[in-house]
Amino acid sequence: MNTEHYDVVIVGGGPAGASAAIYTARADLRTLVLDKDPHAGALGLAHVIANYPGVRGDISGIELLELMRSQAESFGALFLREKVIGLDLGDRDKVLFTASGKVFRAKAIVLATGSMGKSREIKGEQELIGAGVSYCATCDAAFYKGQVVAVAGRTGEAVEESKVLSRFAGKVYLLCPTTAFAAPDEEVESLSYLPNVEVLYNKRISAINGKTSVESLSIAGDETPLAVDGVFLYLTGSSPVIDYTGGQLDLVETGCLRVGPDFATSVPGVFAAGDVICKEIKQAVIVASEGCRAALYVDRYLRGHSKVKSDYH
Ligand SMILES: Cc1cc2nc3c(=O)[nH]c(=O)nc-3n(C[C@H](O)[C@H](O)[C@H](O)COP(=O)(O)OP(=O)(O)OC[C@H]3O[C@@H](n4cnc5c(N)ncnc54)[C@H](O)[C@@H]3O)c2cc1C
Repeated sequence: MNTEHYDVVIVGGGPAGASAAIYTARADLRTLVLDKDPHAGALGLAHVIANYPGVRGDISGIELLELMRSQAESFGALFLREKVIGLDLGDRDKVLFTASGKVFRAKAIVLATGSMGKSREIKGEQELIGAGVSYCATCDAAFYKGQVVAVAGRTGEAVEESKVLSRFAGKVYLLCPTTAFAAPDEEVESLSYLPNVEVLYNKRISAINGKTSVESLSIAGDETPLAVDGVFLYLTGSSPVIDYTGGQLDLVETGCLRVGPDFATSVPGVFAAGDVICKEIKQAVIVASEGCRAALYVDRYLRGHSKVKSDYH
């Protein structure tokens, strides 16, 4: 079997992986990025990004990714469209297997496969992502100035995101699917100080309606759909994409890869960055910085430096 050798293979070419590739390639490490589909990651799905530093105006997630990738390519990184389905981490060299049957070897690897929603289960949800269906108020609230939105969920995150939205939207319906929130009482009570937030209990969305953008929500048991301009879903949560690791790496209780302050996982030579590791705030700028830091620690690991060397002169 033909095996290609690299200094570093990065799994996932989202903002974490692409940023890691900029740094490893620029550090003159032979760098390969394996990405199954740029449109399948969180940034690839984001319809508009308006808060990435240095990029003025609205840009789609995929356009921002393209900028990052071409920058990494300009330093010599190679991007291949391949889905990684298995790893062999037993030896000093790490082996990666892809769905197309290719095998790659690397002295170090960086896992940057992100964290995705479990499944898009509500009728109309998949079709209207980016056209009124969102999963991140911090990202998208500013697009709903003065408009009517709904938040669906029972967690502390749903409560917090309703507060964020209340600063922009004219009206926020918080639809709790059960009789009570799974969040501290005082957090839920604090919503009563926000005149534009209305909490409705036992409201399960059965369909998200709209031709080109969200127009209304059908609620199980209600005759009349609720008219809204957008809906923010916090129903299924997201889980780190680690199915291809085969249980070879330590996880933290919440299912993310366990890393140290140097982004090293429990196996020497295997690093991880981005939403695949636990974090409170998921934002492109945060994961890009993690990709940078992981790459600098990869460089230290491969070259045996005692200190991390910054990439500037
Ligand atoms: C709808 C939406 C809107 C958002 N809006 C904003 C915003 O406005 N501003 C902001 O800063 N952040 C925003 N975010 C958050 C931001 O996009 C994420 O925090 C960020 O993309 C995470 O980066 P990542 O590189 O860790 O993972 P991802 O961006 O998810 O990239 C992971 C990559 O890994 C690839 N991959 C997965 N499994 C495999 C495999 N087995 N083999 C090969 N490749 C694989 C995927 O195809 C993907 O390209 C948004 C997120 C979503 C979902």
